[in-house]
Amino acid sequence: MNRAAFPPFLTGRTSVILLTMTEPARTTGYGTTAWVLTICVGVVLAMLLGGAIAAAGAGSPLVKPSIPAPKKVAPKPPDLSRWEISHGNPALKQIALTFDDGPHPEFTPQLLAVLARLHVKATFFIVGMKAAAAPDLVRAMFDAGHCLANHTYHHPRLTKITIAKVAQELQLCGDTLKAITGETPRYFRPPGGQIDPEVLKMAEAHGYKTIMWSYNTGDYKGFTADHLYAGLVKSTHNGSIILMHDGMPESLVLLPRFVATMREKGYSFVTIDQMAQDGMTTGR
Ligand SMILES: [Zn+2]
Repeated sequence: MNRAAFPPFLTGRTSVILLTMTEPARTTGYGTTAWVLTICVGVVLAMLLGGAIAAAGAGSPLVKPSIPAPKKVAPKPPDLSRWEISHGNPALKQIALTFDDGPHPEFTPQLLAVLARLHVKATFFIVGMKAAAAPDLVRAMFDAGHCLANHTYHHPRLTKITIAKVAQELQLCGDTLKAITGETPRYFRPPGGQIDPEVLKMAEAHGYKTIMWSYNTGDYKGFTADHLYAGLVKSTHNGSIILMHDGMPESLVLLPRFVATMREKGYSFVTIDQMAQDGMTTGR
């Protein structure tokens, strides 16, 4: 070794001593044990600390929060069941045929003739504007013993107009029917079945019971008379209120067959007025 390369106090021996003193853990048996013990104590402390943090419910991503996050709940639709009537008495084998949107200058006379032949009394939800244009047809319905009801004057979507306009629609149609028949109608059906609590309250304030339906034939969708008949027979039950439309030629074809089939099963055909007297049920 070239001594000149070291400071004067670092002789070969002193260098060895210094090295020994600065690396005790790596060079002696006692040092290794102390190191292992130090690591073990450290691990235990870390575990204890981790446990304490977990118990406190904080810091660890594996710990589920004790209070679950609130779920998003869809707003509840308003309960309209107090006002809506969609069934007759479930204990009675009664069916109410209802025809919306008339009178129709071409089809209403044919429909009235079919119903007369079948001795069936039905209910017509009439559009006031059309009634004003064809009062003779409305009078013919009334004279034949059918039940006439309010389906607004212009057939608007009532949930899309102001409540003041809803009141006008109810009033105008009611006045028109009364002017023709002498009787104020007592039943109302909203165009397109569009209702909300305000519309229903307004109808009630005008003295109307709101009548929906238990079965919609979908006769405006272009189905054949056979298809409509099959759906009707399958879906009709005690107290059914059936939605059809005045002005659909298919109904003229299917009605004699449907009426005959249901009469064979013991059903009778009544107006909404008759159903009301025998006990109708609310809700859909
Ligand atoms: Zn309608």
